[in-house]
Amino acid sequence: MSEIYDTVVVGGGIIAAAAGQHLAAAGYRTLLVERDDYGAGTSSKTSRLQHCGLGYLSAASGSLSAFLAHPRVAIECFSLMRRSMQGRAEFVRLAPERVKPVTFIIPLTPENAIPRWKARLAFGLMAASDGGQVPLDLRMLSSEEARAHPALQGMAGLRDIRGAMSFTEYQYHWPERIVVDTVMKARAIGMEALNHTAVSGLKREDDVWRVTLTEAQGSREVLARAVVNCAGVWVDEITAMAGAPHIRKNIGEKGTNIVVRLPETLRGIGFETVTAAGAPFYLIPWGELHYVGPWDSASDGRPEGFRPTETEILAILDQLGRLFPGFGLKREDVLYAWAGVRPRSLGQDGESSAPAVREHDLTDEGLPNVFTFTGGLLMTHRDAGRRLTRAVARRLKPSDPPGPLDVPLPPLPNMDEVTEASVAHAIVNEQAHTLSDILRRRLSVGWGPDLGRCHAETTARLAASHLGWTQEDMAAQVTAFLDETSTEFSFQGN
Ligand SMILES: Cc1cc2nc3c(=O)[nH]c(=O)nc-3n(C[C@H](O)[C@H](O)[C@H](O)COP(=O)(O)OP(=O)(O)OC[C@H]3O[C@@H](n4cnc5c(N)ncnc54)[C@H](O)[C@@H]3O)c2cc1C
Repeated sequence: MSEIYDTVVVGGGIIAAAAGQHLAAAGYRTLLVERDDYGAGTSSKTSRLQHCGLGYLSAASGSLSAFLAHPRVAIECFSLMRRSMQGRAEFVRLAPERVKPVTFIIPLTPENAIPRWKARLAFGLMAASDGGQVPLDLRMLSSEEARAHPALQGMAGLRDIRGAMSFTEYQYHWPERIVVDTVMKARAIGMEALNHTAVSGLKREDDVWRVTLTEAQGSREVLARAVVNCAGVWVDEITAMAGAPHIRKNIGEKGTNIVVRLPETLRGIGFETVTAAGAPFYLIPWGELHYVGPWDSASDGRPEGFRPTETEILAILDQLGRLFPGFGLKREDVLYAWAGVRPRSLGQDGESSAPAVREHDLTDEGLPNVFTFTGGLLMTHRDAGRRLTRAVARRLKPSDPPGPLDVPLPPLPNMDEVTEASVAHAIVNEQAHTLSDILRRRLSVGWGPDLGRCHAETTARLAASHLGWTQEDMAAQVTAFLDETSTEFSFQGN
């Protein structure tokens, strides 16, 4: 490994992966460093939607007085909607195998009914944002059609419904894989990447940064002309490590989802509404199951804050019960749950979050050639990569000439199944080191109805020869994997 990099990217979530890929393509000698595994942070705990940006538009359009009171927020929301639609078109075109269309329905109740012209205007604006490349398929249902719609059967207040909107959203097959794909594409164009290695020190020396890397075997140092801090909800820890604890850019917002089996009438259909607090609330199909949420709460940043709590699980069940009283779901019907902490941009008041999704050049704040990103989202990750690369380019010339961004990778074995080929590929070509790396982020089976538990032993046996695991190592890996399903996912089964 060379010792002086143009850029060291801190983190291995979707924003770091996109930044690394774009920097490498622009000719920057780049090292990406992730302390856990690629995509193991917030990027693996999402609602898995390549949103069309409708939520931003409703936040922006509010009322005229709200718009006039906060025009900057409204403009930011419009811009985010545009970027969402453009990100959607770009991703659906580039990686159609990683997304699938899902029909969503939004009931129009007496509280949230909007005139048809307004809905058509909103969808017209969204369609114009991507030049109509990926259709939204808006359908406005009359009150009679809505009352008869299978997915709305059992909904509270169905008799008074004013109608419904149905449209197409895109869902990620499994987001962790998108992070892994992006890191592997970046490696194919020259980026170096380390997982299970933490950035544990950052020190300015002359005109470079000395970066300490710590892994299980020990620590070492590399030099970097620039540091691109994409540590998600942990970005301020990295800035503090570089000697500027006063620079705060991030605020964490926890979100929890639960997984349940809903009636057949909802099979394959997404349902969207807002809670009494004004937060979006979804029922999203996941194979034969649905995940339901998110339930939002403040995060205190501790590891336990990244796990679903009983209070949150019960709050989601309560909300679901209010929407569909007939379902009668109880705690024991929740198969599993997950929680993540969104890295949101800290607002100007230093206390609340702002809708901004953007890069920051910290040079003028006392950290030369340190860049960071806040509010990063899966759905606009390529935009984040481009923005960060432009920010770096304003300060630093790349050492190498630019090259292609998206090179085709050799065909993958079927990563939806545990086979000798898929496990070997995950380890030999994709830097998987643990059972969780293999089952949850290289293969999709770790997100099955039992969270991949039934595959743990077979996979450990297949992995052992590649990773030099003894019988004890295999048993320890299986135990750690099974423990993870209860601690991280509140798994209820056997
Ligand atoms: C409940 C919920 C639902 C969501 N739904 C959606 C959705 O539907 N669509 C969408 O687009 N977005 C969604 N999001 C938002 C999205 O998931 C995140 O905003 C995005 O994944 C953030 O990516 P990131 O790379 O910034 O952060 P992360 O994925 O958290 O990556 C940061 C990485 O930095 C690493 N790191 C930290 N410190 C160090 C260190 N010292 N050294 C090395 N590495 C370090 C961490 O281990 C972590 O892997 C949702 C989020 C939540 C919580």
